[in-house]
Amino acid sequence: MDEAEEFGGGAQAVDAAGAARRRAEMVEHQIVARGVRSAAVLRAMREVPRERFVDAEMADRACDDSPLPIGEGQTISQPYIVAAMAEAADVQPGDTVLEVGAGSGYAVAVLARLAAHVCGIERHATLADEARTRLAALHIDNADVRQGDGTLGWPEDPQTHKARLFDAIIVSAAGPEVPSALKAQLALGGRLVMPVGDESGQQLVKLTRTGEHTFRQERITPVRFVPLIGEQGWHTKTKGGGPAT
Ligand code: SAM
Repeated sequence: MDEAEEFGGGAQAVDAAGAARRRAEMVEHQIVARGVRSAAVLRAMREVPRERFVDAEMADRACDDSPLPIGEGQTISQPYIVAAMAEAADVQPGDTVLEVGAGSGYAVAVLARLAAHVCGIERHATLADEARTRLAALHIDNADVRQGDGTLGWPEDPQTHKARLFDAIIVSAAGPEVPSALKAQLALGGRLVMPVGDESGQQLVKLTRTGEHTFRQERITPVRFVPLIGEQGWHTKTKGGGPAT
């Protein structure tokens, strides 16, 4: 990604410089101040042009310390949460990462700065299309976004009929529990970070795969996310109306 090239020269270059300064302030005041320490995550948060992942009329609010609407009743997550989840997932340069709930594509872009490859899956086709367009415009070529139900994980490779294994999985919507399909797609030693709970309360949890059938679970912090809706998530978007069967 070459942002200067994307923005062109003249007034646009000035805009790009202003946006970069706002992102640097966002990182200092919202992310470092709350305890995120990973140098790679902080660099990615400074570099990825968050303002390109919201509608143009909202670009000057892109670095606000809050989620923002992206259409379909969904949101781009608060910057701090994106950084905290990426740090908790301990993403390494050679990793293959899955993000469930790709939304605007912003977190996919951040993760693509940290990992070898990122797969993003999004329930709403319009959002998945827009995310793909934004990633392509920024020349981010180590990420794929598909439309689908991410509670079932990433689809099998059509050639080998095998599911991929991921070194890290980030779920950006809150479900009743960690979907078994996602646990099955976590590599040995892999980390999964996900909010679990309903409208009345959610916890960000981290699972680390320690063996074929064993996982270590940690609770990270209370959070508030939109619901994960799907076969291994909630039935409806009006809170956790009940786990899907
Ligand atoms: N990470 C996104 C970004 O950077 O813009 C924001 C994620 S938004 C908080 C949560 C997203 O999860 C929404 O776009 C929603 O449509 C999506 N979602 C909910 N259930 C899903 C499912 N079963 N599979 C895939 N996406 C899902």
